[in-house]
Amino acid sequence: MAVRIGFIGLGNMGGPMAANLVKAGHKVTGFDLNPAALEALENAGGKIADSATGAAEGAQVVITMLPAGEHVRQVFLHQGGLIDEVKDARPLLIDCSTIDVDTAREVTAAAAEVGLAMLDAPVSGGTAGAQNGTLTFMVGGTDEAFACGKPILAAMGKNIFHAGGPGAGQAVKICNNMMLAINMVGVSEGFLLAQKLGLDWTTLHQICSTATANSWALSNYCPAPGPVPAAPSNRDYAAGFAAALMVKDVKLAQAAAEATGSPTPLGTQALSFYQKVVEEGDGGKDFSVVFRWLAKQKRE
Ligand code: NAD
Repeated sequence: MAVRIGFIGLGNMGGPMAANLVKAGHKVTGFDLNPAALEALENAGGKIADSATGAAEGAQVVITMLPAGEHVRQVFLHQGGLIDEVKDARPLLIDCSTIDVDTAREVTAAAAEVGLAMLDAPVSGGTAGAQNGTLTFMVGGTDEAFACGKPILAAMGKNIFHAGGPGAGQAVKICNNMMLAINMVGVSEGFLLAQKLGLDWTTLHQICSTATANSWALSNYCPAPGPVPAAPSNRDYAAGFAAALMVKDVKLAQAAAEATGSPTPLGTQALSFYQKVVEEGDGGKDFSVVFRWLAKQKRE
C-alpha cells in the first residue's frame, strides 16, 4: 500500500533511502538544505518541498536522516518545529540519524506529550547498504510504533531489529560503532606487523578471515589495500563512512560510558586515533584510513 512519506535530510544516506521508498511505490516528499540533494530526489521520482514542515504536510510517516543530535532537535523541537506543526495529522515519526541517546529520548518524549509515536531507527550498512536497500535498522520505541514502522523500514533495509524502548536503537548503534572503531585499529595493527614480518597481505587475509581474528573489518572492509577489491582502501580511502562521522559516534559512546561509569579504555584510545586522522585533514576519508595514519607512526 502506498504511504505518504515526508523525508528530511537527503544526503549520502537519506538520498538513496528516499529513492528506495519511491521505488517501493510510496509517495515521498523530501526536504534538504542542499539544492543538489533535492534535485536528486526529483530525478528519482519524488516530490520536493521548501521546508521540513512542508515535506511533512499531509504525510502519514515522517523520516529524518540528519547529521547529528543538534539538527534533529532543530527540526523537531524548535519554534515552528515539526512536532508542533504535525500534531493534528498524527504521522508516525522515525529518526534514522545516529545521535545521542538523551536527544533521542527527549525528542520522543516531546512527541509523546502531544500524542505522536516516534521511533529512533539508526542504521548500519553504509552508503552501499542505503543504495541497495540492505541496511540493518536498530530500532527503539514502543511495540505499537515498531509494528507500524517496520513495513516502511523494510523498503530500505534487510534486517529490522526491535532493540527496546525509546533510545534503545541509538544505544545499540553507538556500541556497535565503538566496537567497529576499535576493531578497525586492531586489524590495521595486525596487517602492518605482518608487513614488517615479510608476509603478503593477501595470504594473511585468506588465512585470518577463516581463523579466529576474522571480523567484518577484516573480511569485508580490509584497511590494507589489495585483499578486498571493493574496500575503500583500494580507492584512496574515499568514503564510505567518513572518519569525521566515526569520531562523532565514538564520542557519543564515550559520553555514554562517562555518564554510566562504564570502562572503555580501548574506545578512548581508538577515539584519539580517529581524532588525529581528522586533525591531519582526512576527516572526509573513509574511517579505514586509520590504517594509513597508523603506518606513519613510530613505535614508542
Ligand atoms: P550527510 O551529511 O551526507 O547528509 C545529511 C544531510 O542533512 C545533508 O544533505 C544536509 O544538507 C542535511 N541537513 C542538515 N540539516 C538539515 C536541516 N535542518 N533540514 C534539512 N536538511 C538538513 O550525512 P550522511 O552520511 O547521510 O549521514 C546521515 C546520518 O546517518 C548521520 O547521523 C550518520 O552518522 C549516519 N550514518 C551514516 C553512514 C554512512 O556510511 N554515511 C552509515 C550509517 C549511519
